[in-house]
Amino acid sequence: ASLYKIDGWGAPYFSVNSSGNISVRPHGSETLAHQEIDLLKIVKKVSDPKSSGGLGLPLPLIVRFPDVLKNRLECLQSAFDYAIESQGYESHYQGVYPVKCNQDRFVVEDIVKFGSSFRFGLEAGSKPELLLAMSCLCKGNPESLLVCNGFKDGEYISLALVARKLALNTVIVLEQEEELDLVIDLSKKLCIRPVIGVRAKLRTKHSGHFGSTSGEKGKFGLTTTQILRVVRKLEQVGMLDCLQLLHFHIGSQIPSTTLLADGVGEAAQIYCELVRLGAHMQVIDIGGGLGIDYDGSKSSESDISVGYDLQEYAAAVVQAVQYVCDRRSIKHPIICSESGRAIVSHHSVLIFETVSATSYQSPALSTLGLQYLVEGLSDDARTDYHNLSAAAIRGEYETCLIYSDQLKQRCVEQFKQGSLGIEQLAAVDGLCDLVSKAIGATDSVRTYHANLSVFTSIPDFWGIGQLFPIVPIHRLEERPSARGILSDLTCDSDGKIDKFIGGESSLPLHELEGDGNGGNAGRYYLGMFLGGAYEEALGGVHNLFGGPSVVRVSQSDGPHSFAVTRAVAGPSCGDVLRVMQHEPELMFETLKHRAQEFLGQQMEDEDDNNSIHNASALASCLARSFNNMPYLCCLT
Ligand code: PLP
Repeated sequence: ASLYKIDGWGAPYFSVNSSGNISVRPHGSETLAHQEIDLLKIVKKVSDPKSSGGLGLPLPLIVRFPDVLKNRLECLQSAFDYAIESQGYESHYQGVYPVKCNQDRFVVEDIVKFGSSFRFGLEAGSKPELLLAMSCLCKGNPESLLVCNGFKDGEYISLALVARKLALNTVIVLEQEEELDLVIDLSKKLCIRPVIGVRAKLRTKHSGHFGSTSGEKGKFGLTTTQILRVVRKLEQVGMLDCLQLLHFHIGSQIPSTTLLADGVGEAAQIYCELVRLGAHMQVIDIGGGLGIDYDGSKSSESDISVGYDLQEYAAAVVQAVQYVCDRRSIKHPIICSESGRAIVSHHSVLIFETVSATSYQSPALSTLGLQYLVEGLSDDARTDYHNLSAAAIRGEYETCLIYSDQLKQRCVEQFKQGSLGIEQLAAVDGLCDLVSKAIGATDSVRTYHANLSVFTSIPDFWGIGQLFPIVPIHRLEERPSARGILSDLTCDSDGKIDKFIGGESSLPLHELEGDGNGGNAGRYYLGMFLGGAYEEALGGVHNLFGGPSVVRVSQSDGPHSFAVTRAVAGPSCGDVLRVMQHEPELMFETLKHRAQEFLGQQMEDEDDNNSIHNASALASCLARSFNNMPYLCCLT
């Protein structure tokens, strides 16, 4: 566990059990050891058709734990409840979940259900997100907020007004000044009184990767001049009472409570000014930014860690708002946050298999091979060869390396000119490998091939270099003897993972058992953790690899027992082809027709029902290919 720093990033949900497997504590409690679930058992049950009750779902696989979601929500709420009570703050906390972080139906429905007792709401940033938020909140608490962010056209605003008419506690947050005219016109036309918020562009700037949203030149929000114009216009049309919420978002992964308090304090001043100008302000919405400690270092210096925990975050927010409001004698507002990453990151684990690994056996060089090699060399190359041998005898390793590089270069040139055969070039490569190995200059990092697409499942690694903890989910009682990078199935050189938490350029990994390609005994499963936010919706279909299979796993009665409450295989080849406008049914018919055209005759002649020469066997093979997932599936 310490090798992979699991206690740092995984507590209280992930740890290593006595079998050396990762175990999950869905309720986040270290005292309820009997409730731990062995992740490997889940994977076996879900993926192995031969295990009892096995579902035979292909990997890669996302395992969701709704209980973890529940725990995250409750911890966030109680951190604010505690800060509010202990600091004597005279209002309450009422968060919203920004659905952009993971729009999966069951994730959003779970959040609405688990958060209903404490009025937890949703935030939408587009029309489809608003539609899903509206329908989910119909089953929630009527007081829960529905915050409408993002660029808006007339249709978005009309939809948000309709949501208000449906008695959903909807707030239209102005991201641009121009949206105000649309809100005024449409609300008059539809005779629906809106509740309006403004998103302020703060001067406080977050300097990390996610900070480009913040500062005066940030992409979103209204400047102070624009906010003033909004207030005046609302006053002119008799709608200043509709302005009730102030929103800001200085970026995800806010590194420290110092920066947080600075931003919240600035926003609280704007809030108080809006009250002074006559708006009926109720809510200060501090946006997202509550960070995740991906490497367990609790450091404010890195993009993948933060220097605070939930309690410290909540305390800093409450204190900053209270301080400003008390000095201005303004009633304490409801505090809303739009924490996404912090709610959903822990709830899912991506499981994938490594299917093979490169080995570092240098080709054995026979004397015959060497003799043959030397004969074919040019004079210069032969001199390099002799110099290399002499340096080796003298034990001058640096010199060996220089001559072996020189020899290789000359031989490649000779090969390009056609004066050296492929066998001789291979012999030179072997000799140079042998030299590097003998003097310890061999790169011992191996490449493990993973049945995965980085572009589909870990897009933030490819896009912005975001690191996630990646760990074998079993064999952790055994010290890994190799180091490796992970290479995915796409034929794209960016489809690899060669940076890991802790600044490492390779990961400690175990030797693959058997041929690494064989039966169950040889399977080697890795898990990517803390990827529950953003990764699923951002992932694309590069090389036409679709998303993973997904299961939901809940605790069930009895020690260490679990139930798979939902299981869905990932998109098939046909499904991903459809995404790019192909028509799998027509494609199948075309290929089937061709099979009949070319093989129909043989079918009659040979009367062989099993052979692939038979047109109908060929058609069923094609049908299977359309229906199966694009990932490797013939590993047993
Ligand atoms: N609110 C807004 C307006 C956002 O743009 C984002 C994401 O960047 C969030 C909330 C969620 O932020 P986080 O995932 O850091 O909680």
